[in-house]
Amino acid sequence: MTDTGWVADLLSDTVTRPTAPMRRAMAEAEVGDDVFGEDPTVRALEERVAGLLGHEAGLFAPTGSLTNQLGLRLHVDPGGEMLADALAHVVRAELGAAAVFSGITSRTWSSTAGRLVAKDALAMVTTGVGPYQVETQLVVVENTHNFGGGTIQPLTEIRALRDGLAGTGVPMHLDGARLWNAHVATGVELTAYGQLFDTVSVCLSKGLGAPVGSVLVGSAEAMARARVWRKRYGAGMRQSGILAAAGLYAVEHHLERLADDHGRARRFAEAIAEVGPYVTLADVETNIVMVDTSGTGRSAAQVAVAVGERGIRAYPSGKDRVRLVWHLDVDDAGTDAAIAAFREVLGQGAG
Ligand SMILES: *Cc1c(COP(=O)(O)O)cnc(C)c1O
Repeated sequence: MTDTGWVADLLSDTVTRPTAPMRRAMAEAEVGDDVFGEDPTVRALEERVAGLLGHEAGLFAPTGSLTNQLGLRLHVDPGGEMLADALAHVVRAELGAAAVFSGITSRTWSSTAGRLVAKDALAMVTTGVGPYQVETQLVVVENTHNFGGGTIQPLTEIRALRDGLAGTGVPMHLDGARLWNAHVATGVELTAYGQLFDTVSVCLSKGLGAPVGSVLVGSAEAMARARVWRKRYGAGMRQSGILAAAGLYAVEHHLERLADDHGRARRFAEAIAEVGPYVTLADVETNIVMVDTSGTGRSAAQVAVAVGERGIRAYPSGKDRVRLVWHLDVDDAGTDAAIAAFREVLGQGAG
């Protein structure tokens, strides 16, 4: 049992607590005033993440919603359009920020489990339509896909999208909150993903286990503009090297271990699939498992309460879908407990 009181807290990979060595790195971080560009630890993190993704420069921000919004803002003028998957975080979970802050209109394509099909996105691109229709100014891809269940975008489809957009001048932004998971699961280099996009947002506070922080990467010119907008939005931070130190520690020490989370998620999914049609195994590619409760006579919310009584916290992410997310605070024993709880609850039927 963890100090959270849960046997396994699978609500999200954001629930992790900083480890003792991560806290030490934070306590010992060299800091300065980052609004004046004088925090060496923030600079080191920005350079490190930009380098990992094959981009010129980076910008540290408190949340992934903000690094996404800064990215969108860089590419789209007020009244312009972005295209995204209908289940994308930028259109579902950022509470209309693109519209509220940047005057961006959105259109979405449908997908199966969030998987990108380039031709579906390309079919919606509208450019050169003068004053008659909204101009497409950005296409957003999410990798891995959160509401899709941690699914990985095929590199071939991302390339096809990039190739299809060549000549239109429409840029691409990657919501790579969990790009780390895609990289570890596939072995595709981070730079191979990174180079296909104009800007990339990555989170340090998901599976990597930092308490706070995301980084936006792109050209030096784009990051200089994003820095102005970050300050304008009120997120110019001062001795934020304390936070960046956690991010640096996470990138150095918690990246490769994401494979453990993937293995445990897979083991859970296989154990649950054995007892009924509750999981689509082909969609379990990283650290997220979606459990389909539709055949059980119980709603996702009811299943979440029932497993909660057995010490397992899970998120009802739809009326018949319970989402579970593995991370560095859930071990093999927690995974076994989750398997036992779900097998028991799913096998009970309505009642
Ligand atoms: C978590 C997440 C974000 C950023 O979320 P914040 O809570 O604002 O850090 C962005 N995109 C996806 C896909 C996410 O899962």
